[in-house]
Amino acid sequence: MVINHPQKASELLFPLPQTVEDLPGTFRFHTGLCIATAPLFQSVGLFACEVLGCKAGGEDILFKENRELQGEAYEMKISKQQVVIKSGTTEGAFRGLSTLRRLILSAQNQIPCCRIQDYPLYEWRGLMIDCSRHYFTPAFLKKLIDIASLFHLNRFHWHLTDDQGWRIPIDGWEKLTSTGSKRTLLQHTDNRSYGQAYSRQEIQDIQAYAHMRHMMVIPEIETPGHASAALASYPQLGCTGGPYETQDRWGIFEDVLCSGNDEVLTFLGDVIAQVASLFTDPYIHIGGDECPHTRWETCPKCQKRIQDQGLGDAKELQSWMTSKICAMVHDAGKRPIGWDEVLEGTQTMGLPQDLIVMSWRGVAGGIEATKRGHQVIMCPKTEGCYFDYKHTDDPEEFGNLGISRISEVANFSPLKDIHDEVAKPYILGSQGNLWTEKITCGSQAEYMLFPRLMVLAERLWNPQESDQTLQRIEILHTLCDALSLNCYKGPLS
Ligand SMILES: [Zn+2]
Repeated sequence: MVINHPQKASELLFPLPQTVEDLPGTFRFHTGLCIATAPLFQSVGLFACEVLGCKAGGEDILFKENRELQGEAYEMKISKQQVVIKSGTTEGAFRGLSTLRRLILSAQNQIPCCRIQDYPLYEWRGLMIDCSRHYFTPAFLKKLIDIASLFHLNRFHWHLTDDQGWRIPIDGWEKLTSTGSKRTLLQHTDNRSYGQAYSRQEIQDIQAYAHMRHMMVIPEIETPGHASAALASYPQLGCTGGPYETQDRWGIFEDVLCSGNDEVLTFLGDVIAQVASLFTDPYIHIGGDECPHTRWETCPKCQKRIQDQGLGDAKELQSWMTSKICAMVHDAGKRPIGWDEVLEGTQTMGLPQDLIVMSWRGVAGGIEATKRGHQVIMCPKTEGCYFDYKHTDDPEEFGNLGISRISEVANFSPLKDIHDEVAKPYILGSQGNLWTEKITCGSQAEYMLFPRLMVLAERLWNPQESDQTLQRIEILHTLCDALSLNCYKGPLS
């Protein structure tokens, strides 16, 4: 695309910074430019050289320290001669660089002069990708992490285990990956299997890549339901003893981890401890969703546990398990996160206060969690946060189960429907969730994610009036083209 007249920064940026003042003139960007940094920003400077194709050593682009700018806050001034990014932290400097990268992608070599002051509205701005239902390559995950960070997202929630595959190696439980990472493809008659696991080296490598982009990595190990892959590997962990299989269908399965079997606690203790040592960020997601209690109702071991622990019923048995697993997460020095079902059956037992609740079935679970003093991440499927859902109600449109219109995402706020002022400080932010039961490859994943993920990023950084957001969608189409992303460009509602 040839741009004949330079556009204004305020017309090109998405998300918009908190304040952007358009100035006359343009800064000519080219790869012969040099970058200099304050000592604090050396790593950001090296990264900037890499992604912009510039060299170190001169002050065409300058990263300066300003300790008054805390957290993710930054300031940027683009004049005809120079780009200056100021921050008090490497994270802030990185956010400034991301804004500059987006301007360069949109405006190519004539960057409109401007003055920007910027900081985020919400602390938790995430992307979840389900790598159990389908395995995505490390290279594709890195591409997603890079794009997400470009739009100021800062959490990568990595769904690593489920009924359809276990994707992380655990010492002493080798069958989890040798058996549990593969499933028979039922639609094929030649016994073909599908799936593989990530190696420790790949997991560390993806974390390092994310951390360079100031994005935390949150591993999720599903407990006590969605456990078919673990049960297929070690049938003694189930109530009936199996046999079980790593599922090729998707849905909710009645066979879950046996809550009366002490070996299950040993197993989970090993898994949590090893996940905690492999992942360096402070959180571990323990799942907790969609766990039927059918087997527990008739399992002698589970019934004995209910009796021994003085529990009322199977719901309370699940909260007993949740508390046990949270204790393992604490022992490993991490903080637990669970889907909103973890609140069920806990009216009398309570839950560890530091458990963060991810509200997915709607907003009610999140609101209830705030009343009980839990911090909350709002990602309700009812409000556009599920990106495996179709873009529109069109039978020819790709997608699963529901519809998440771009117009819904553009209307979303983590505080929507929260009227109690006391509850608001408990809401950390939100994330877009991509479940992959029907998404088998990266190009499909991109079509589902973009541009909805970018719209959600705007809601969490600096939300505009929703009709203004929708009027600016074409900026995202241009950016997706520049980034070689497969992107939905159809109706917004
Ligand atoms: Zn049992």
